[in-house]
Amino acid sequence: MKILLASSEIHPFSKTGGLADMVGALGKALARAGHEARLITPLYRGIRERFPQMRRVDWHFDLPLGDRHVQAALWSLEMETGLVAYFIEQPGFFDRAGIYLENDVGYPDNADRFIFLSKCVAHLARYLPWQPDVVHVHDWQTALVPVLMRHQQSAEGWGNPPPACLTIHNLAYQGVFPRDTFALTNLPPDFFTIEGVEFYGRLNCLKAGIVFANIITTVSPRYAREIMTEEFGYGLDGLLRRRQKQLLGILNGVDYDEWDPAHDAFIAHTYSLTRPAGKVACKLALQREMGLPQGRDAPLFGTISRLADQKGVDIQLGALEEMLSTNLQFVLLGSGSSAYERGYAELARRFPSKVAVRVDYDEALAHRIEAACDFYLMPSRFEPSGLNQMYSLRYGAIPIVRATGGLDDSVIDLTEDATRANGIKFHEYSARALAKAIRKALALYQQPDLLRQYRRHAMKTAFSWERAVGEYQKAYESARSLRTGSRLS
Ligand code: ADP
Repeated sequence: MKILLASSEIHPFSKTGGLADMVGALGKALARAGHEARLITPLYRGIRERFPQMRRVDWHFDLPLGDRHVQAALWSLEMETGLVAYFIEQPGFFDRAGIYLENDVGYPDNADRFIFLSKCVAHLARYLPWQPDVVHVHDWQTALVPVLMRHQQSAEGWGNPPPACLTIHNLAYQGVFPRDTFALTNLPPDFFTIEGVEFYGRLNCLKAGIVFANIITTVSPRYAREIMTEEFGYGLDGLLRRRQKQLLGILNGVDYDEWDPAHDAFIAHTYSLTRPAGKVACKLALQREMGLPQGRDAPLFGTISRLADQKGVDIQLGALEEMLSTNLQFVLLGSGSSAYERGYAELARRFPSKVAVRVDYDEALAHRIEAACDFYLMPSRFEPSGLNQMYSLRYGAIPIVRATGGLDDSVIDLTEDATRANGIKFHEYSARALAKAIRKALALYQQPDLLRQYRRHAMKTAFSWERAVGEYQKAYESARSLRTGSRLS
């Protein structure tokens, strides 16, 4: 099958979170399963320098964006057999220091930037000599593509457009803009209705994708159920319930080429289930790097995260406050809300021998933390899939997670299956419940045989992309069979 994947961030070119990891890994896994996958993403600052093999394509975009026309160029990079990446070069929009924001403030023209990206995707889907069998878009930044394609079919004589699949990586981010932004889409006014892209008088890009995509997926089965409830639906639960026959939850896989301590180039000592010694060496190296007292006996906890409400930062700060009277050590790598950054910095200042904080975005350090930690904390309020708990399992850092979304789908607690337990789950969203889970971890740490057993189960857990690709393939096939369906079939 020929699949065109579009995303505002794709690893290894650009990344702010799990979206980039997932689209990069999906493209690779589709190609390795014998499909042809092509990726479309913006040419952000620095990508061309890091990938000098890319070539300019003889292609010129000149597309309407409201009452002006915007030009762009196209670059391509052959990544491996069956996998090509396209980059949209529009320096005014994409040659910037950040992807979505700078100094904590979103770019004021994000609507222009990503509506333009979506138009480029629809344009390539229509005019590339390589004709995709399915167009797979991700999150609000490319969620207008299905409606743009639908409009071109009905109004501009695009005879047989491919079906569209939308993956929701996080329903909390919908790309909602003031009413007058709708003009940038150049769609006729009858799309700006409650049955279309309007959401309480504003343009909602993600809603457009949910209404017009032939099939909708999200990144774990439990999150697929959660977003149909008022609690997690962010105002779109009713619409999602109406589309539930076309809504599937497919748990993300892990790219073990990138995330495996047996061959991870970022870590001080590689290790595996059969050669476990390197893990302690990684712990000692990280303690030294982060300025914590070195010692193999202190249980080391870690977190790598965007510092946003979603990630449970408030209960984590509360639980740590309570637990720092024990001998645990805690390492944080994260950035985001400045209040949360200050909260962790303050904790590190008060407990310098127990807490080390790095406010930064640092891919290599993220690998070193996974390798070093005994336990990984992920107390999210909600979590569509979550990747770090999956990476933690492979690195033998026992995950402590709140039972929500993909966290619930990927970690096994003792109470669920004693023979396969690989992590610790808690349910109530409170510092008290998290502190209790940390106490369980400390008790586990005192029982080396049991800890080894948890680690063995954890490191053997595999979230294979082959399985996920099989499920996406079925989703694409059903999208093709639904192609002729009505708007809200
Ligand atoms: P989300 O997409 O909601 O941010 P995920 O757990 O799905 O959460 O994915 C997060 C990805 O981003 C992981 O690969 C994680 O290692 C990475 N990441 C998050 N914060 C940082 C950071 N400060 N430095 C390096 N990597 C980070």
